[in-house]
This record gives sequence, structure tokens and C-alpha cells, in this order.
Amino acid sequence: MIDLKSVVSYFDTEYPASLAEDWDNVGLLVGNLSATVKTIMTCLTVTPEVCEESVAKNVHLIVSHHPFPFQEIKKITSQTVEGSMLLQLISHGIAVYSPHTAHDSAKDGVNQQLAAILELIDVTPLNANGSGRIGNRKQNGTLLSDLLRIIESRLGTCSYVGELNKSVNRIAVGCGATDDFVDEAAKQNADLLLLGEARFHTCLLAQSLHLALILTGHFASEHFAVKTLAQKITAQFPEILCFPSTSEQDVIKRYH
Ligand SMILES: [Zn+2]
Repeated sequence: MIDLKSVVSYFDTEYPASLAEDWDNVGLLVGNLSATVKTIMTCLTVTPEVCEESVAKNVHLIVSHHPFPFQEIKKITSQTVEGSMLLQLISHGIAVYSPHTAHDSAKDGVNQQLAAILELIDVTPLNANGSGRIGNRKQNGTLLSDLLRIIESRLGTCSYVGELNKSVNRIAVGCGATDDFVDEAAKQNADLLLLGEARFHTCLLAQSLHLALILTGHFASEHFAVKTLAQKITAQFPEILCFPSTSEQDVIKRYH
């Protein structure tokens, strides 16, 4: 029998709060530490569909990349979507743990995995607080179009800023909404920054700095890591049944 306390202490070691951004809300967010954990479901975000799935699959713990709850709350009632979800989870004894930006920045976290997809070597954090990654392509002579093909095959259709025949050797990555990485990536001579999403004016800034961008979409830049997280938990706790949610889809659809 494994209790929630043991599972939480493992996550707190792998994804320490010291790696998370100051504004974040990470760690155990819902749960009774003495409860037994036999089933874990990983997901990107706790939504009403994810709550339904966790109840239907008798899940004891949801490990959600994005925090839930995130903002401070003063009421937990069925009058709000958030309150209804919390009531549903608590009444079924379902705990929630969120590693969020600590997971982004961890040594085997989301950004490190993105660097591996891009076949980068000499990878270091982009920023002093350990967030983002920057490294060099193992292979010389890569074009922006080559990388777009690699990313499309691994993460799906993406958008870009820059010229397709631009030579790309030094690459920075930042999953999710990481507009604020543009200046630092340019300062560290990156040819390209891969990120989840960026504002229009950030794209113009990148172009003026001769920094190409690949925008995968927020969901695609992080969702693949929900599966690798489930594999990691299974390896650590073989006696716990752990699987990624199957009810999650990108809320932003592509028309074609
Ligand atoms: Zn995110």
C-alpha cells in the first residue's frame, strides 16, 4: 500500500518548488496525505472532462501539469465551474498534484525533452533561474524548413516566423507561453526559439532581432510530456496503475 504522502514526497524531490516560478502554484493542491494511492492519471489541465474521466476510471490522484486550483478561491460551491470540479474531486477522494513550471525546468522536464526532440547538444538552461533551454544542433547545415518538418512529425502542425532557408544551428526552447524568452534567446545568439505560443508583437520583435520562431501551439508544446510523465511514474511505482488522460484535446482547433 502506497500512501499519498510517499508519492508527493517523490514528486517534490523530482520537481522541487524551488524550480517553479514565483507566481506559480505547485505541489499537492488537493488531497489527504494519508489516503492510499492505487491509480494515478496524468493530464495537461484539469477540465470538467478530465474530472469525469478520473471518476469513471477510479483515479486516486491526478497529476496535472497545469495547477488546479491556480488562483486563490474564497468559495467552493456548485455555482462556478471551478467549485463544481473541486466538489466532484473531493467527494470522490481524488487528489491533485501539479508540478507546472518546476516540470518545465526540471532536469528531465518538458524543455529538456523538447531539446532532445530537436537533437540539441551542449544544452543548458536559457535563464539564471533554470528555465528554458538553449543548445546547438548536433548536425550542421540545418535549415528552418528541416526543423519544421521534424517538429510537425512529432508535435503536429506549427506556425513560424523567419525564412524557410535560414540556417539554424543555435536553438532555444520554451514550452507554453514564453514570450519573455525572446530577448534572452537573441542575446545568447540563438538562430531560432521554439515556443508554444507568442503574441503578435513578440513575433515582430523576434523578426527585428533576426530570431526565427517556431510556434507549436501551447497544447502541443506540453501535451507530449503528459505521456512521458506517466511512464516515469510507472517506473518509480510499478505497483501503482498510472496512465495519461485520454479525454484531453487541444481546445484550439485547426480548420484545415
Ligand atoms: Zn502550459
